Amino acid sequence: MSNAKVNQIKDMTDYQGVCIVAHQEKGVNLPISFELINEGKKLAEKTASHLHVVILGHTINEAVEELSYYGADKIYYYDHPLLDTYTTDAYTKVISTFIQNIKPEIVIFGASSIGRDFAPRVAARVGTGLVADCTRLDINEDCKFLQTRPAFGGNLMATIICPNDRPQMATVRPGVMEKAEPIEESSEIIKIVPELTEEDIIAKTIEIIMDKTKKVSLTNTEIIVSGGRGVGNAEGFSLLEELADVLGGVVGASRVPVDSGWISHSRQIGQTGQTVRPKLYIACGISGAIQHMTGMSESDYIIAINKNPKAPIMKQAHLAIEGDLYKVIPELIQEIKVK
Ligand code: FAD
Repeated sequence: MSNAKVNQIKDMTDYQGVCIVAHQEKGVNLPISFELINEGKKLAEKTASHLHVVILGHTINEAVEELSYYGADKIYYYDHPLLDTYTTDAYTKVISTFIQNIKPEIVIFGASSIGRDFAPRVAARVGTGLVADCTRLDINEDCKFLQTRPAFGGNLMATIICPNDRPQMATVRPGVMEKAEPIEESSEIIKIVPELTEEDIIAKTIEIIMDKTKKVSLTNTEIIVSGGRGVGNAEGFSLLEELADVLGGVVGASRVPVDSGWISHSRQIGQTGQTVRPKLYIACGISGAIQHMTGMSESDYIIAINKNPKAPIMKQAHLAIEGDLYKVIPELIQEIKVK
């Protein structure tokens, strides 16, 4: 695209409605799709406009059908053999063309590794900006789109407005927003076969190597027992595993145990880890730094176990237990086992 085209002044009134880009893997919708639909519906209601969902893939009819029961006005399904496996070039071309034709006012992607890869390219292609890694979206009383994300190393939350760019684009962290619930009525599905050729794909995927390590899902569990520096060493995490086992939950961590090599990075919760919103979050020996709270403050119920009653997390928690985790946790396990 030429600079002249990028720099041309857009007529903002041409741009209408909210669009979310659904994410699927091997024909299975990822949870972020339902989170984005829920958020998209709220934004569409507040701007008295419509919600469109766009999904890319090849022969993924079941996933598309499923998405149609979540209250969107239209589902745009781009089906092509070259969309079977994700490639930056094909996805960028298809979504950019979609935006240029449909002209949504707001476009939201998941901040998954795929979304993080192609959303900035789409923004450049259509000549707009992108607010990456948002944890909150809203529309204010002046109908401005508010995009909130951590800034300055997570020390503050910045709310960003893009008054002169259309569409306004954001990526949203997986696990932050609530998922939409299915409804009985289905949306209109528009199937499109995009114009794509091998020449469009400059960077080719040669092989996909699956990660064979045991994966623990922190985003799909209702209970997380999380450990921080206060756990003291790798062995200490077996006590947390024991508590998680009796509760039917999984173990998470702050950054310190991860950096210290006590537990894998896949368990890190916070700004540079995962964002979770379980029903119960038990923070053991975690002080409650903002970079950690960013990743778990939306939990329904937070219990903090800490030696220091003045630790910031003790004020944020619904239940603050002052004490040594090595005394409190065995007592908790004992109590739960008796019941
Ligand atoms: P500390 O802050 O050292 O707290 C340990 C707590 O344990 C204290 O409150 C202490 O009273 C308590 N304690 C000690 N012994 C016991 C005991 N026996 N029983 C009970 N309580 C005890 N952090 C994250 O967690 N996730 C992130 O994603 C993340 N990303 C970051 C990104 C950036 C750019 C930066 C700058 C920082 C990031 N951090 C992140 C680090 C963050 O700032 C904090 O340093 C970190 O969260 C502190 O971890 P902690 O609470 O385990 O340790």
